[in-house]
Amino acid sequence: MVQSAGFFDEGQLVGVLTTQPLDRLLDYRAPEGGCHLGAFVEVPLGPRKVLGVVWAPGRGDYDLSKIRAVIRVLDAAPMREELRAFLTRAADYTLTRMPAMLRLATRAPGLGDPPSMRKIYRLGHRAPDRMTDARARVLEVLRDYGGLAFTLKELAELAGVTSSVIKGLVKQQALIEEDSPRDLPFPRLDPDRPGKALTDDQATAADALRIGLRSERYGTTLLKGVTGSGKTEVYLEAVAETLRMGRQALVLLPEIALTAEFLTRVEARFGARPAEWHSGATMTERRRIWRMVGQGEAQLVVGARSALFLPFQSLGLIIVDEEHDTSYKQEEGVLYNARDMAVLRAAICGARVVLASATPSLESWANAQAGKYDKLELTARFGDAVLPDMRAIDMRQEALQTGRWISPTLQRAVAVRMERGEQALLFINRRGYAPVTLCRACGHQVGCENCDARMVEHRFLKRLMCHQCGETVPIPTTCPSCGAEDRLAPVGPGVERLTEEAVALFPEARVATLSSDMFGSARALKAEIEAIGKGGADIIIGTQLVAKGHNFPLLTLVGVIDADLGLQGSDLRAAERTFQLMRQVAGRAGRAEKPGQALLQTYQPEHPVIRAILGGDEEAFWRAEAAERQAAGVPPYGRMAGIILSGPDVGAVFDLGNALARADGPLRQIGAQVFGPAPAPIARIRGRHRVRLLVKAAKGAPLQDALARWTAQIQIKGDLRLSVDIDPQSFF
Ligand code: ADP
Ligand code: ZN
Repeated sequence: MVQSAGFFDEGQLVGVLTTQPLDRLLDYRAPEGGCHLGAFVEVPLGPRKVLGVVWAPGRGDYDLSKIRAVIRVLDAAPMREELRAFLTRAADYTLTRMPAMLRLATRAPGLGDPPSMRKIYRLGHRAPDRMTDARARVLEVLRDYGGLAFTLKELAELAGVTSSVIKGLVKQQALIEEDSPRDLPFPRLDPDRPGKALTDDQATAADALRIGLRSERYGTTLLKGVTGSGKTEVYLEAVAETLRMGRQALVLLPEIALTAEFLTRVEARFGARPAEWHSGATMTERRRIWRMVGQGEAQLVVGARSALFLPFQSLGLIIVDEEHDTSYKQEEGVLYNARDMAVLRAAICGARVVLASATPSLESWANAQAGKYDKLELTARFGDAVLPDMRAIDMRQEALQTGRWISPTLQRAVAVRMERGEQALLFINRRGYAPVTLCRACGHQVGCENCDARMVEHRFLKRLMCHQCGETVPIPTTCPSCGAEDRLAPVGPGVERLTEEAVALFPEARVATLSSDMFGSARALKAEIEAIGKGGADIIIGTQLVAKGHNFPLLTLVGVIDADLGLQGSDLRAAERTFQLMRQVAGRAGRAEKPGQALLQTYQPEHPVIRAILGGDEEAFWRAEAAERQAAGVPPYGRMAGIILSGPDVGAVFDLGNALARADGPLRQIGAQVFGPAPAPIARIRGRHRVRLLVKAAKGAPLQDALARWTAQIQIKGDLRLSVDIDPQSFF
């Protein structure tokens, strides 16, 4: 019998990649009915059943009599060659083992369960006759998720109640129980509904993107435009074109908080909501998206970085919004940068990429300069909105009491906004109440037991917290070092302390604090952001979180409490980060008709980065920064990898580091240099000592290959760990 290429008849040997940490494919026999190359299968492994993908023909180098059969082929579209190639290349690039890559691509439970009906629960129309805490929690979860329905198990877990509580509510008709087919397709989006009338600039950019899409060939475009210039409007036109072509689109967003407003815009444009992939999505929803994406029944996915690993059937466009955002870099497990991986996947499947940002990463800027990426620019804000006027407040000239951080100049500017009924934002990139707790008797700074990090006071929680490991302790009254009573004092400001100061200075004002750790759930945070956007606060105090994409139409003043903060690090991207963050934050002001102002408190107004931020000559900043990196041979003009070694015994970790450093032959062969071992910037996390080596190579050097050969020379024993971070973003 002639079978199509890539099909295995019953009994033929197939090589299966499983999600288990093994270094090779395992041979099995194709099951009854055969299976396709790429099929998702369940296979026996020892006493267990595990998930896998038919990756290649079997090798047949194992005792044939012991080879077992595939248990079953899952009811899911086989993994396409494009995705298999992408996972392989991404694994090579990030030096990750294939099973870990496969886990990234199968992050949804019950992937292979057959379609069936199941019971779901949604909010009913009656109040229960008697309210208990548990019942209230169930109702709150349902309200929080705005009309979504859940399975019994999900709802019980989310609300932290037993299933009998839910059944009880059903009896009282406070909840409705329904049968629902699993995995409904997503409603069709209509690309031909009228979009907004674009300005000339916007229309030109949208046309260029459409032409690129029609070529059906890979290409990346950097879409640069000041905040509010309409980048989103423009790339939604590219999404529309992709849908018209019958292909799928993916929009990556850096922060879940961004999606509420964004989804509303998508719905307004296309008449229905897209699939939403993020950590807050329920298990049922993740499974549904995974399957529907694979069947082409989800045209548009809006999601966090891991959406990149979904099994798209015909991916035509990937948008990476706020492409410079550091949260695109996954810092745990598989260390990858979603922006770079988006480009890789698109190159493999012939899709287009749009990198959108007001302040692109130097990497993308350099790629556009070099002609590797196309570049489109939107220069003006939409409508009457103008960019905020930006000024420095020279803190050396301000009379500031100790324990105060809002300068008199900034205070006056806020007061003016309050009189006009406008909003002001005070930005400080520090969570908690105070970054340091100091003993006034002995000078000791309270640190974490497990980490080389200071404990940060969180007054709302009444605890000290370690931002590295999450450990918390009650705020002590005696010094852990000298034992002095009541001599511990908070030093320096965090959002909570700034809130206290703002309340004291403006007792009449409604003050809202936005910090990622102050909201129990992403949904609660979303709700708060929406309320603020509608005028629910006069003064907003926020961390980094507020710098990202939110629209606050009434906001006309941004005060940056410490513009110098980011400039102190040893990170090679310190200047770039400060520049981006300050411009993003300032971009929050004056998004509507009212002009905005941004005031930056600084002790070094003559610093080149501060001057570049204020001067607004972005190209000059990028050119200067690029020249410095080029001279130093660092990314994007050279290649780097960070090697972090860790273990409970500091001596053993250093011994390993030294052994690696000595065995640098494979690195020298490609002209690469190794620096270290040295204590990592955070030298201890969760009780593990951390030592870092940095490898630098020239731009074209085959770094991954050399790294693989280099690290393979040394056996890593016991509880020591080695992790390789290609293109490290943060240097911890
Ligand atoms: P960016 O993504 O560059 O920050 P947006 O696309 O969010 O900019 O646009 C900023 C605001 O201006 C949004 O409220 C958007 O709806 C509005 N806007 C932009 N372009 C137009 C247009 N051509 N017609 C109507 N409104 C527009
Ligand atoms: Zn800690």
